[in-house]
Amino acid sequence: MSSYMTLNPATGETVREFPGLDDGAVSGVLSRSESAFADWRATQAAERARHLFRIADAYDTRRDELAELISTEMGKPVKEAVGEVQLAAAIYRWYGEHGPDLLEREVLDPQGADESLVQSSAVGPLIGVMPWNYPYYQVARFVAPNLMVGNTIILKHASICAASSELMAELVHAAGVPEDAYINVFASNGQIADMIADPRVRGISLTGSERAGASVAETAGKHLKKVVLELGGSDPLIVLDDGDLERTATIAARARLSNAGQACNSPKRMIVPNDRVDEFVSVVTRAFEAARVGDPRDGSTQVGPLSSVTARDTVIEQVERAVEQGATLHTGGEAIDGEGAFMRPAVLTGVTRDMDAYSEEIFGPVAVIYGVDSADEAVALANDVGFGLSGSVWGSDIDRAQEIADRLDVGMAYVNEHGTTLPGLPFGGVKRSGFGRELGRWGMGEFVNIRLRRTS
Ligand code: NAP
Repeated sequence: MSSYMTLNPATGETVREFPGLDDGAVSGVLSRSESAFADWRATQAAERARHLFRIADAYDTRRDELAELISTEMGKPVKEAVGEVQLAAAIYRWYGEHGPDLLEREVLDPQGADESLVQSSAVGPLIGVMPWNYPYYQVARFVAPNLMVGNTIILKHASICAASSELMAELVHAAGVPEDAYINVFASNGQIADMIADPRVRGISLTGSERAGASVAETAGKHLKKVVLELGGSDPLIVLDDGDLERTATIAARARLSNAGQACNSPKRMIVPNDRVDEFVSVVTRAFEAARVGDPRDGSTQVGPLSSVTARDTVIEQVERAVEQGATLHTGGEAIDGEGAFMRPAVLTGVTRDMDAYSEEIFGPVAVIYGVDSADEAVALANDVGFGLSGSVWGSDIDRAQEIADRLDVGMAYVNEHGTTLPGLPFGGVKRSGFGRELGRWGMGEFVNIRLRRTS
């Protein structure tokens, strides 16, 4: 039986089940993608851009329907879901606007020849393996630049996002992209491994956990395929001694509760001067206790359920383990009685290097707050984890804050903001947060053949 289904995490109700891909159909998917590639890559860049604009328009037109669907599938509050749909539309539009220029030939110094130039061209069918936490945004980050380049897409979404992945395929095809240039598959992990091994597939992009990333990268490495990995994070948010503590704590609390804390780049670790830590904890605790937890389809809800009861119980278990190991719990950390995967947002302090919570990613509404004696100590603590996705520094002396931000081992460092993602900015991390970049011109440079042509 297929594991693809919509199970509303707010109610526990199974809404719909989806048949999985037959083993016998795997090779056919690859052949279809390969033959669509021959035609799709031969279209003009301006024509592919027009398709992207039409996809963006469809996201805008069907915004509310799209938003409600993911609220039902993975529990995102509908207000946030609307923002995500708009961001996905903006990504398609950005690549439609900039893609043709980015694909222009670049003339190089001929260095002794009559002419040297490079041109980026498509490489072939790609597999995208996507997570449930931002079902539209993650797919747009991978699909928009690669359709623009002329690659074809085989998309395997998270098994709990089958309905939204089906709807996305419908929008892409309705915009005129050929059926086989974008194929949505309800594939198992084993089928994905078989596809990666097949010579018709030219690259793989995965956004998800370290476990999934390592597994896909292992198969890809064995078959010499390029991989882009966007994995977990445990982002630091550093408040300097000249920072506006109350304001920063309020923003940090809001950011940590966004998407019920299930964001790779959520500020999971808040690092504050020791003499201000009590004040910071009390602002975050008050904000967490005041946040409205409930039905994600209600417009006033601030925190919805986690993606599943299992995901919720994992987070609660991490909080309990931290407390057993000596941390202090200031609020929350328990399941809310009744149906659904709800929990009360938690604030932890006193986490030390020997505790699991120091180094693990906590993928839920939990703030871990640390006190430090100096900016140097803050940087050392920020960098003392296996992840390196993003981080932020907050202070009123901008030069100093920027200098400290430059010392963070991350792919994205922010000053006086945290986690901003925009179509033209690169997104990605270092260390165990993965490799490769999405978005902006960098996102169009991952799965291309940078072809030299030199004429003497
Ligand atoms: P996940 O369990 O790793 O799932 C992500 C995707 O990988 C799903 O489609 C899943 O399929 C698939 N998958 C899992 N194991 C696989 C395997 N062995 N072979 C092929 N595919 C496999 O991650 P998640 O729980 O959905 O997402 C949470 C994680 O993603 C967190 O660690 C978060 O930080 C990270 N994330 C990172 C970014 C970023 O940009 N850096 C963005 C968002 C999330 P099934 O659903 O069928 O299991």
